[in-house]
Amino acid sequence: MGAGGTTFPFWCACISKAQQAAARRPAGTIEYISMAETIRDTVILGSGCAGLTAAIYAARANLKPLVLEGHEPGGQLSITTLVENFPGWPEGIQGPQLIENMKLQASRFGAEFQMGHLAAADLSKHPIALRVGAETTHTRTLIIASGASARWLGLPSEQALIGHGVSSCATCDGFFFSGKEIAVIGGGDSAMEEALFLTRFASKVTLINRSENFRASKIMLERAIAHPSIKFLSSTTVEEVLGVEEKDVKGLRLKNLISGEESILPVSAMFLGIGHIPNAMAFKGMLDLDEDGYILTRNNVFPTLNGEPLPGVFACGDIQDRRYRQAITAAGSGCMAALEVEKYLEEHGR
Ligand code: NAP
Repeated sequence: MGAGGTTFPFWCACISKAQQAAARRPAGTIEYISMAETIRDTVILGSGCAGLTAAIYAARANLKPLVLEGHEPGGQLSITTLVENFPGWPEGIQGPQLIENMKLQASRFGAEFQMGHLAAADLSKHPIALRVGAETTHTRTLIIASGASARWLGLPSEQALIGHGVSSCATCDGFFFSGKEIAVIGGGDSAMEEALFLTRFASKVTLINRSENFRASKIMLERAIAHPSIKFLSSTTVEEVLGVEEKDVKGLRLKNLISGEESILPVSAMFLGIGHIPNAMAFKGMLDLDEDGYILTRNNVFPTLNGEPLPGVFACGDIQDRRYRQAITAAGSGCMAALEVEKYLEEHGR
């Protein structure tokens, strides 16, 4: 727990509390804590771009935010490669490095981190109660930044082969298929990014899109089309992943949606790039969600229940944004949520 008990010289009274917090902690270190039975000013669920930006702002406002890292620490950026569109990095930056930088930045100003994910929450009472494992913590405000997780096709054969040639993370697992032929499913930017990344290892990448048209941005699509190792199959679905008995992907049984013809594509791996599912199930019934489970908000960061904003609860990042879903927009909404927390606490006498 931080540097509790550290004695500061008299001049510390002249600098801000945020500066004092930063002064306590050596640069480049991150503080992990156990959840305690105290009432916090703010807890942030999720440690992706949105949550960490909220943590930077809340920490600099001296709110000592607790960041609950969730089941995918670092969020989607932590499993991506080069990020070329985050302002300030003219040569691009690796996603995991960007996340690590944000974490260090938040930590420097006093943010605390807790590994684990939310088991249950009660948003109906104040302070808000959050249960993580056997511990419960209470907080005056909550920032929900738990993002979205990779979507799967839902085929039994796919589920049986996860970790045996079926993956949703090219950067994590691509290396294992060096020199092999692999398939990527999807037609959006994620699929293009995965396919392009996987050409580093694979002898051939087949990109399979269920629609005729691709959702990907022009630049990403053009890059993939121009790559000699990427082949495209559109209007095609995966009916079965072959190799369940062998516990190793051997190929895909495909169906052409126009002709109805089935065919076998021999591949050693299948990577999913078909979008994400918002991690908001814990709030079902407590907050308004849209038909796909995204949190509905007013003015970006104010979640509602039966159309009315819920006091002290804020949401940011991919959990409430199905339109832009960019690192920079997630970061922007994380900033908004933290500023609203500050305002809310001030209005409630903190
Ligand atoms: P997306 O744009 O929603 O595309 C999802 C793709 O998966 C679509 O082609 C969709 O097909 C397909 N799909 C969905 N469910 C499917 C299913 N059950 N079976 C087969 N195919 C299925 O998702 P995304 O590619 O993850 O991108 C999300 C956002 O992040 C976008 O705004 C994107 O620009 C951004 N992004 C940016 C970058 C970058 O700039 N480097 C990288 C990744 C993502 P249909 O079209 O038929 O529905």
